[in-house]
Amino acid sequence: MKVAIVGAGLAGCLLATYLARRGYEVVLYERRPDPRDGMGGGPAGLGGGRSKVERGRSINLALSERGLDALRRVGLADQVMKGALPMRGRMIHPIEGELDFQPYSADGQRAINSISRGALNDALLEAALAHEGVIVHFEHRLTALDAFSGAMEFEGRRAHADVVIGADGAGSAVRGQLLAAGLLDESLDFLDYGYKELTIPARDGDFALDPDALHIWPRGSSMMIALPNPDRSFTCTLFWPNGGTSSFASLSSPAAIMRHFDRVYPDVPALAPDLVSDYQHNPVGLLGTVRCDPWQAGGRVALIGDAAHAIVPFYGQGANAAFEDVVELDRCLADTGDRWAAALPLFQVRRQANAEAIARMALDNFVEMRDRVASPGYQMKKKLEHVLERALPGRYVSRYELVSFTTVPYAQVQRRVWRQQRVLGAMLGGAALLAGVGVAALVRKLRSS
Ligand SMILES: Cc1cc2nc3c(=O)[nH]c(=O)nc-3n(C[C@H](O)[C@H](O)[C@H](O)COP(=O)(O)OP(=O)(O)OC[C@H]3O[C@@H](n4cnc5c(N)ncnc54)[C@H](O)[C@@H]3O)c2cc1C
Repeated sequence: MKVAIVGAGLAGCLLATYLARRGYEVVLYERRPDPRDGMGGGPAGLGGGRSKVERGRSINLALSERGLDALRRVGLADQVMKGALPMRGRMIHPIEGELDFQPYSADGQRAINSISRGALNDALLEAALAHEGVIVHFEHRLTALDAFSGAMEFEGRRAHADVVIGADGAGSAVRGQLLAAGLLDESLDFLDYGYKELTIPARDGDFALDPDALHIWPRGSSMMIALPNPDRSFTCTLFWPNGGTSSFASLSSPAAIMRHFDRVYPDVPALAPDLVSDYQHNPVGLLGTVRCDPWQAGGRVALIGDAAHAIVPFYGQGANAAFEDVVELDRCLADTGDRWAAALPLFQVRRQANAEAIARMALDNFVEMRDRVASPGYQMKKKLEHVLERALPGRYVSRYELVSFTTVPYAQVQRRVWRQQRVLGAMLGGAALLAGVGVAALVRKLRSS
């Protein structure tokens, strides 16, 4: 039985490995050229990677437990983690004053991992192609699909498969074909914000900032973040409004760009010598949430990863969720005896509420990152949360930890956090309780809640 996967990105390549292990013949179709061509032909390694990431795509991303779990199940986690840089917390850069390190976990040890998108994609592609049943066609852009017969067209070239999986990202052509055929509804909610990448190069051969942290410059209605790279540079991402004051639209001349950074991100100009040129030449990427329904048609065509549910990047979960999708689809196939007509609808039933939950949490986290992290109230709440987590291991777990360091389904995380927040809110509201009774009483109250 032949399965076509459209898109040899992160989800597509990992899915190819999972399906090959189930004994399927898998053909990957990818619109980009082969990353192995003309780049030396040596092994990818995970320190840099051969794939050139499209301009406007993020260069690195944060891989956390959900993604790692999916990689571990097919023996790829150790290899991928060789090129990863663990980030144990957020380093807040205020306009004035000291840097503030906020650990992600109560024990300060748990980390999310900065990883090169291109190197990760290369490693997943190589792992997929190591299976006999997997082949890939590069420079194949899907332009037409008949969901009833499985016939596909790639700019004039025709192909056919028994099952077609759209792993072709947020702007999915497979989704577009299903939409045009009246087989699904979609909604695209774009933020009034975009993103642009800048680089902080290595300084004297070393990291110019602490590589053990995800750096954040929270500025109320906008922010910048920076993640470390194996070559000791940092990739910074500006998340700014598209229009209005202090927006991408309002800054273009070198003098205006420098003035703005000197005023709003005063430590950055000295660290980023190519700031103005990066700013002027790098594109502004779109940010938005994609929802569609159903995720499959006729038990023969389905969507996975960003193609089904792209989200904003503020929880660092899009790729992690896409990898979780792969695990769930594999599980659905196992649970239905590989009857695709049953497995594909089941996949949607099991994943859709989780995709919606992380979509909402990612939007919430934008406000948290760009604004709340800098406030004393937030910092106090985080410290209290960590006290509670240490006092009640496994019973009180922060949303960040549940999302990033567990595989608890996202929808369950949301429900659990609502319950915890009600209790925490009641406690914080009771100043007398805080002052008079102390943490021990908080713990007793939580135990009995
Ligand atoms: C700024 C930013 C930062 C991010 N940071 C993180 C992070 O820290 N952690 C995290 O987990 N996620 C992050 N994400 C989200 C993450 O990038 C996506 O969720 C993830 O790439 C989705 O994987 P995918 O395989 O579904 O889609 P993609 O990675 O987009 O892959 C789709 C593939 O399909 C191919 N394709 C597209 N159209 C066609 C066609 N018509 N025919 C054939 N092939 C086609 C593309 O070339 C591509 O190779 C971030 C996203 C952004 C924008």
